[in-house]
Amino acid sequence: MDKKTNSSKISYCPICNRSFDTKLEPIKVLGINITPKKRLCEQCSNKKNLEVIHNENKLKILELQKKSNIPKFFYNTDITNISLQWKWQTKIINFIKNWSPNYSNNWRLPFLFGVSGTGKTLMSYCLINKAIKEYQIDAAILDIASLIANNKETDTNSYGKFGIQNINLLIIDSFGCHRINPWILDTLYTIIDNRLKKQLPTMITSNVDPTAIGKYFLELAGNVNLKHICSALEDRIFELCLLMKLNGTSIRLEKALKSIKDDKQSNTDYNLQWITKKNLPN
Ligand SMILES: [Zn+2]
Repeated sequence: MDKKTNSSKISYCPICNRSFDTKLEPIKVLGINITPKKRLCEQCSNKKNLEVIHNENKLKILELQKKSNIPKFFYNTDITNISLQWKWQTKIINFIKNWSPNYSNNWRLPFLFGVSGTGKTLMSYCLINKAIKEYQIDAAILDIASLIANNKETDTNSYGKFGIQNINLLIIDSFGCHRINPWILDTLYTIIDNRLKKQLPTMITSNVDPTAIGKYFLELAGNVNLKHICSALEDRIFELCLLMKLNGTSIRLEKALKSIKDDKQSNTDYNLQWITKKNLPN
């Protein structure tokens, strides 16, 4: 043993005033032996490092949320604290609660379908927030509207088209709600096919019954030459996703009905006419 390791130096922790020997007792911070630069005791160093890690994580989470396309209003939406009106959607809620990217067989995510206002988009926000907050993985919502508006390979998302194809978790929201042209169809097919080949988690939400999606897209496109790509797209979706239906009526519609009943001043007849035309689903 040389002199250096033998020598003893007593230090006092500036936070808790605990005395400790900096030479003979190398402190362990989060399981690693280090020389205490700021001369804090082991307990205070651990606490401080945890705070630093916590703050770094918070920044990273915010950065990931910004890149994900999730609206800022939903940054705090969490599957464990969603409002009571959604609580009966137990199947999808349990799926999200139990999901983890760490199990290799968990790459298949729901194709969530049902009428508008049953909480499909909200559930997709819950999943994306869980992935980002608990696991800090790259996750994003595919912005089909901006894909269509730009009609080019870049600018569709902070991750770009190539990034979207390979991102750890992708949400395709309101699938079938947009205009379809051969380029969009080709782009969607490329993204979905690539993600299936690599078994990358992809959740889709849609008002359209997935068993009719090929036919639906073909009608939207209005071009019989696209028959093959439409049916190939439908096939890939069945392999990529678990079909999950959200039952129930539209919460938005119920709220609208309630506000009409509550508000005697409004043009009730006109509004009720519009709502009953919508053929409330069971
Ligand atoms: Zn201390």
